Amino acid sequence: MSALPAAATPAYSSSDSSDGLTKTVGVLALQGDFEAHAKMLRKIGAQAREVRVPADLGGLDALVIPGGESTVMTLGIEREGLAEPLRLLAASGTPILGTCAGMIMLDRDHLGVLDITTSRNAFGRQLRSFEADVELEGLHGGPVHAVFIRAPWVVEHGPRVEVLGCVDEHPVAIRQDRILAVAFHPELAGDTRLHELLLSINGDRD
Ligand code: GLN
Repeated sequence: MSALPAAATPAYSSSDSSDGLTKTVGVLALQGDFEAHAKMLRKIGAQAREVRVPADLGGLDALVIPGGESTVMTLGIEREGLAEPLRLLAASGTPILGTCAGMIMLDRDHLGVLDITTSRNAFGRQLRSFEADVELEGLHGGPVHAVFIRAPWVVEHGPRVEVLGCVDEHPVAIRQDRILAVAFHPELAGDTRLHELLLSINGDRD
Protein backbone atom coordinates (compact mmCIF):
# COMPACT_ATOMS: atom_id res chain seq x y z
CA MET A 1 0.00 0.00 0.00
CA SER A 2 2.52 2.53 1.16
CA ALA A 3 5.15 3.87 -1.17
CA LEU A 4 6.56 5.94 1.67
CA PRO A 5 10.14 5.39 2.68
CA ALA A 6 10.49 3.90 6.15
CA ALA A 7 11.59 7.24 7.59
CA ALA A 8 8.29 8.84 6.57
CA THR A 9 6.21 6.15 8.23
CA PRO A 10 4.48 7.50 11.36
CA ALA A 11 5.99 6.32 14.62
CA TYR A 12 2.64 5.04 15.80
CA SER A 13 0.93 2.14 14.18
CA SER A 14 -2.69 2.57 13.21
CA SER A 15 -3.21 -1.15 13.15
CA ASP A 16 -2.27 -4.24 15.08
CA SER A 17 -1.71 -6.11 11.87
CA SER A 18 1.67 -6.55 10.29
CA ASP A 19 0.50 -6.10 6.69
CA GLY A 20 -0.34 -2.43 7.26
CA LEU A 21 -3.56 -2.83 5.28
CA THR A 22 -5.93 -4.45 7.73
CA LYS A 23 -7.92 -1.92 9.73
CA THR A 24 -8.36 -2.37 13.44
CA VAL A 25 -11.85 -1.46 14.53
CA GLY A 26 -12.81 -1.16 18.17
CA VAL A 27 -16.21 -2.32 19.36
CA LEU A 28 -17.36 -0.83 22.65
CA ALA A 29 -17.93 -3.98 24.67
CA LEU A 30 -19.39 -2.76 27.96
CA GLN A 31 -22.87 -4.05 27.20
CA GLY A 32 -25.12 -4.95 24.29
CA ASP A 33 -24.57 -6.92 21.12
CA PHE A 34 -20.91 -6.11 20.52
CA GLU A 35 -20.09 -9.68 19.47
CA ALA A 36 -22.32 -9.52 16.39
CA HIS A 37 -20.49 -6.36 15.26
CA ALA A 38 -17.08 -7.94 15.83
CA LYS A 39 -18.15 -10.93 13.78
CA MET A 40 -19.36 -8.74 10.93
CA LEU A 41 -16.15 -6.68 10.96
CA ARG A 42 -14.05 -9.83 10.74
CA LYS A 43 -16.21 -11.04 7.88
CA ILE A 44 -15.25 -7.95 5.85
CA GLY A 45 -11.57 -8.32 6.63
CA ALA A 46 -11.05 -5.97 9.57
CA GLN A 47 -9.55 -6.80 12.92
CA ALA A 48 -12.08 -6.31 15.71
CA ARG A 49 -10.93 -5.28 19.17
CA GLU A 50 -13.28 -5.23 22.14
CA VAL A 51 -13.03 -1.92 23.97
CA ARG A 52 -13.62 -1.92 27.72
CA VAL A 53 -11.13 0.59 29.11
CA PRO A 54 -9.53 3.76 27.70
CA ALA A 55 -6.27 1.96 26.80
CA ASP A 56 -8.21 -0.22 24.35
CA LEU A 57 -8.86 2.87 22.21
CA GLY A 58 -5.20 3.31 21.29
CA GLY A 59 -4.35 3.07 17.59
CA LEU A 60 -7.86 2.31 16.36
CA ASP A 61 -8.78 3.01 12.76
CA ALA A 62 -12.50 3.16 13.57
CA LEU A 63 -14.95 2.44 16.38
CA VAL A 64 -18.40 0.88 16.63
CA ILE A 65 -20.74 1.70 19.51
CA PRO A 66 -23.31 -1.11 19.50
CA GLY A 67 -26.94 -1.30 20.47
CA GLY A 68 -27.97 -2.31 23.94
CA GLU A 69 -29.37 -0.20 26.71
CA SER A 70 -28.19 3.40 26.76
CA THR A 71 -28.79 3.80 30.50
CA VAL A 72 -26.58 0.80 31.30
CA MET A 73 -23.98 1.84 28.73
CA THR A 74 -23.85 5.33 30.24
CA LEU A 75 -23.09 3.83 33.65
CA GLY A 76 -20.36 1.64 32.16
CA ILE A 77 -18.77 4.59 30.37
CA GLU A 78 -18.78 6.58 33.62
CA ARG A 79 -17.39 3.67 35.63
CA GLU A 80 -14.50 3.07 33.22
CA GLY A 81 -13.70 6.75 32.66
CA LEU A 82 -14.38 6.37 28.95
CA ALA A 83 -16.42 9.53 28.24
CA GLU A 84 -13.53 11.92 27.68
CA PRO A 85 -11.37 9.42 25.75
CA LEU A 86 -14.35 8.67 23.48
CA ARG A 87 -14.91 12.41 22.87
CA LEU A 88 -11.22 12.83 22.07
CA LEU A 89 -11.32 9.89 19.68
CA ALA A 90 -14.22 11.51 17.84
CA ALA A 91 -12.51 14.92 17.86
CA SER A 92 -9.37 13.36 16.38
CA GLY A 93 -11.35 12.36 13.31
CA THR A 94 -11.55 8.63 13.87
CA PRO A 95 -14.59 7.25 12.02
CA ILE A 96 -17.34 6.00 14.33
CA LEU A 97 -20.52 4.01 13.74
CA GLY A 98 -23.17 4.15 16.46
CA THR A 99 -26.13 1.79 16.20
CA CYS A 100 -29.39 2.10 18.16
CA ALA A 101 -28.28 2.72 21.77
CA GLY A 102 -24.93 3.64 20.18
CA MET A 103 -26.69 6.46 18.32
CA ILE A 104 -28.17 7.65 21.62
CA MET A 105 -24.73 7.57 23.29
CA LEU A 106 -23.35 9.94 20.64
CA ASP A 107 -26.14 12.53 20.91
CA ARG A 108 -26.19 15.95 22.61
CA ASP A 109 -27.51 14.56 25.89
CA HIS A 110 -24.87 11.84 26.26
CA LEU A 111 -21.34 12.07 24.81
CA GLY A 112 -22.28 15.23 22.89
CA VAL A 113 -20.32 14.13 19.83
CA LEU A 114 -23.20 14.44 17.36
CA ASP A 115 -25.32 17.55 16.94
CA ILE A 116 -28.53 15.56 17.27
CA THR A 117 -31.23 15.04 19.86
CA THR A 118 -32.70 11.55 19.91
CA SER A 119 -35.92 10.23 21.33
CA ARG A 120 -35.46 6.86 23.04
CA ASN A 121 -37.88 4.02 22.32
CA ALA A 122 -39.47 6.40 19.83
CA PHE A 123 -41.37 3.72 17.94
CA GLY A 124 -42.14 2.09 21.28
CA ARG A 125 -45.83 2.17 21.80
CA GLN A 126 -46.73 1.21 18.33
CA LEU A 127 -44.27 -1.68 18.02
CA ARG A 128 -41.40 -2.72 20.22
CA SER A 129 -39.54 -4.25 17.32
CA PHE A 130 -40.00 -4.29 13.57
CA GLU A 131 -38.11 -4.72 10.35
CA ALA A 132 -38.14 -2.37 7.39
CA ASP A 133 -36.30 -1.84 4.13
CA VAL A 134 -34.71 1.58 4.36
CA GLU A 135 -33.16 3.41 1.43
CA LEU A 136 -29.94 5.09 2.57
CA GLU A 137 -28.37 8.05 0.81
CA GLY A 138 -24.97 7.13 -0.59
CA LEU A 139 -25.37 3.40 -0.05
CA HIS A 140 -25.57 1.59 -3.35
CA GLY A 141 -27.20 -1.75 -4.03
CA GLY A 142 -30.76 -1.15 -2.84
CA PRO A 143 -32.36 -0.55 0.55
CA VAL A 144 -30.94 -1.90 3.78
CA HIS A 145 -33.05 -4.49 5.53
CA ALA A 146 -33.12 -2.85 8.94
CA VAL A 147 -34.00 -4.48 12.26
CA PHE A 148 -35.41 -1.98 14.79
CA ILE A 149 -35.48 -3.03 18.44
CA ARG A 150 -37.00 -0.45 20.77
CA ALA A 151 -35.33 2.02 18.48
CA PRO A 152 -34.76 5.75 18.80
CA TRP A 153 -35.16 8.35 16.08
CA VAL A 154 -33.61 11.75 15.61
CA VAL A 155 -35.96 14.51 16.72
CA GLU A 156 -33.71 17.46 15.99
CA HIS A 157 -30.36 18.04 14.36
CA GLY A 158 -27.91 20.79 13.50
CA PRO A 159 -26.80 21.95 10.04
CA ARG A 160 -23.71 19.72 9.83
CA VAL A 161 -25.84 16.61 10.13
CA GLU A 162 -26.80 14.87 6.92
CA VAL A 163 -29.92 12.69 7.06
CA LEU A 164 -29.26 9.46 5.17
CA GLY A 165 -32.54 7.68 5.72
CA CYS A 166 -35.96 7.95 7.36
CA VAL A 167 -38.84 5.80 8.54
CA ASP A 168 -42.22 7.55 8.58
CA GLU A 169 -40.32 10.78 7.95
CA HIS A 170 -38.25 10.38 11.10
CA PRO A 171 -34.48 10.32 10.56
CA VAL A 172 -33.07 6.89 11.46
CA ALA A 173 -29.69 7.15 9.74
CA ILE A 174 -27.45 10.20 9.81
CA ARG A 175 -23.90 11.23 9.15
CA GLN A 176 -21.89 14.10 10.61
CA ASP A 177 -18.40 14.30 9.15
CA ARG A 178 -16.80 10.92 9.88
CA ILE A 179 -19.48 9.73 12.25
CA LEU A 180 -22.38 7.53 11.19
CA ALA A 181 -25.34 6.73 13.40
CA VAL A 182 -28.29 4.48 12.69
CA ALA A 183 -31.32 3.71 14.84
CA PHE A 184 -31.40 0.07 13.76
CA HIS A 185 -29.15 -3.00 14.03
CA PRO A 186 -27.17 -3.49 10.80
CA GLU A 187 -25.19 -6.30 12.43
CA LEU A 188 -28.28 -8.52 12.71
CA ALA A 189 -29.51 -8.65 9.12
CA GLY A 190 -26.32 -9.92 7.48
CA ASP A 191 -25.89 -6.80 5.33
CA THR A 192 -22.28 -5.61 5.63
CA ARG A 193 -22.60 -2.38 3.66
CA LEU A 194 -22.73 0.00 6.63
CA HIS A 195 -19.65 -1.58 8.19
CA GLU A 196 -17.94 -1.37 4.80
CA LEU A 197 -18.91 2.31 4.61
CA LEU A 198 -17.34 2.85 8.04
CA LEU A 199 -14.11 1.25 6.85
CA SER A 200 -14.12 3.37 3.71
CA ILE A 201 -14.23 6.66 5.64
CA ASN A 202 -10.76 8.09 5.90
CA GLY A 203 -9.68 8.67 9.44
CA ASP A 204 -7.07 11.14 10.63
CA ARG A 205 -4.27 8.70 9.91
CA ASP A 206 -5.17 7.89 6.32
N1 GLN B 1 -34.15 1.28 23.85
C1 GLN B 1 -32.73 1.22 24.04
C2 GLN B 1 -32.23 2.47 24.75
O1 GLN B 1 -32.96 3.34 24.98
C3 GLN B 1 -32.01 1.04 22.73
C4 GLN B 1 -32.36 -0.30 22.15
C5 GLN B 1 -31.32 -0.88 21.27
O2 GLN B 1 -30.14 -0.51 21.30
N2 GLN B 1 -31.72 -1.87 20.56
O3 GLN B 1 -31.08 2.55 25.06
